[in-house]
Amino acid sequence: MKYTSQRGTKDILPSETPVWQRIEASCRRIFGLYNYAEIRTPVFEQTELFSRSIGTDTDIVSKEMYTFEDRGGRSLTLRPEETAPVVRACLQHNLISPENITKLWYMGPMFRYERPQAGRYRQFHQAGVEAFGSTDPMLDVEVIDMAVQLFREIGLTDLEVDINSVGCKKCRPEFIKKLTKYFTDKTSDLCDDCKKRLVKNPLRVLDCKIQGCQSIIKAAPAPVDSLCRECEEHFENVVACMDEQKIKYKINNRLVRGLDYYTGTTFEVVSDKLGAQNAVCGGGRYDDLVKELGGKPVPAVGFAIGLERLVGIIGSDVQSPKSDVVDVYLIAIGEKAKNIAFDLASGIRKAGFSADMDFHGKKLKSQLKLADRIGARFVLILGEDELNKGKIVFRDMSEGKQEEIKCDAATIVEVLEKNK
Ligand code: AMP
Repeated sequence: MKYTSQRGTKDILPSETPVWQRIEASCRRIFGLYNYAEIRTPVFEQTELFSRSIGTDTDIVSKEMYTFEDRGGRSLTLRPEETAPVVRACLQHNLISPENITKLWYMGPMFRYERPQAGRYRQFHQAGVEAFGSTDPMLDVEVIDMAVQLFREIGLTDLEVDINSVGCKKCRPEFIKKLTKYFTDKTSDLCDDCKKRLVKNPLRVLDCKIQGCQSIIKAAPAPVDSLCRECEEHFENVVACMDEQKIKYKINNRLVRGLDYYTGTTFEVVSDKLGAQNAVCGGGRYDDLVKELGGKPVPAVGFAIGLERLVGIIGSDVQSPKSDVVDVYLIAIGEKAKNIAFDLASGIRKAGFSADMDFHGKKLKSQLKLADRIGARFVLILGEDELNKGKIVFRDMSEGKQEEIKCDAATIVEVLEKNK
């Protein structure tokens, strides 16, 4: 019996982790520059939190959630996204109030039972931000700007920001009415999924990627044409601020996003290097969600970045950082020497140098080869001769030079410091 990772999940191997670490470090740095604080929530929540917020008729809730009953009979769900858990945590711990702006960021695995393909997994990672407490269009732009700055820092420049407004509780019903009328006339040409969407949630038809539906969607009414005065003004201000900040964008009338809680601004950052799953970041305003989940009415805006897709774009460009190379490799010949080497390794690490040693009892020659292969900068050799003299061989691998020094951790650390 051979065990393999589950469909739609993937192991991130040591050769790939340097790229991940670099992206994660950039996220922390950029989010910090904009004064966002990190929040970490559990990977599972009460199922209702997601069905309530994302919407029961969305693809995520209707067919993609990892929902299970625990041994106490509760319905739990592995988080498919992080906005609802962040709102839940904020309400539970009183982190938001209408008077203040609360800025939070997160990073971690999300779970959706999707059909796996390039750039689409069942366990994937998102890094995202949520800003609570203001309807100011400038906050929308700050959030978008933060994503752009992050991508720039990582070295991605040929990306496109698509923006749209999906309207609010007041104007969206009117738009949905128009949309329903438009699609109803063409029902027979829609795919089976869209026929169902048209009844349950007509907005979702705009999201369909099927070729046959695409041509119909192209000529469908756009949400921006049905916005109420407030939403229109807000969107105009977002666009004007984007212009002022010289952030390049494209207005995309079809951008509705796959989650029901969005109100007003929606945006996506897309890359043409990614094929069908071309979005690296998606977000927008959700001014009703905090109230919907039991809080006071507090407006909010945020985004989530798909980290696998970022890794997919920058790929193996990132070299393994030098810190992955071990400073010292200890070679001990014989059982007694091995015990001493074990102690020395511990002392070396305490001084802040990385150290590793052999546990196979291999011959000197093959151990030296191994030390070379793993890129050890220095090798310490403790054989019977050295042991009797209370010495140890200190070898600088890059210069091929070696000397005998006193066999104690303090002397070794002193020599390491000198050769740093
Ligand atoms: P969403 O939470 O659906 O708004 O998605 C935000 C971002 O997460 C997307 O732009 C993608 O980059 C990423 N993403 C969403 N679903 C997946 C998935 N199944 N696999 C990999 N990345 C995903």
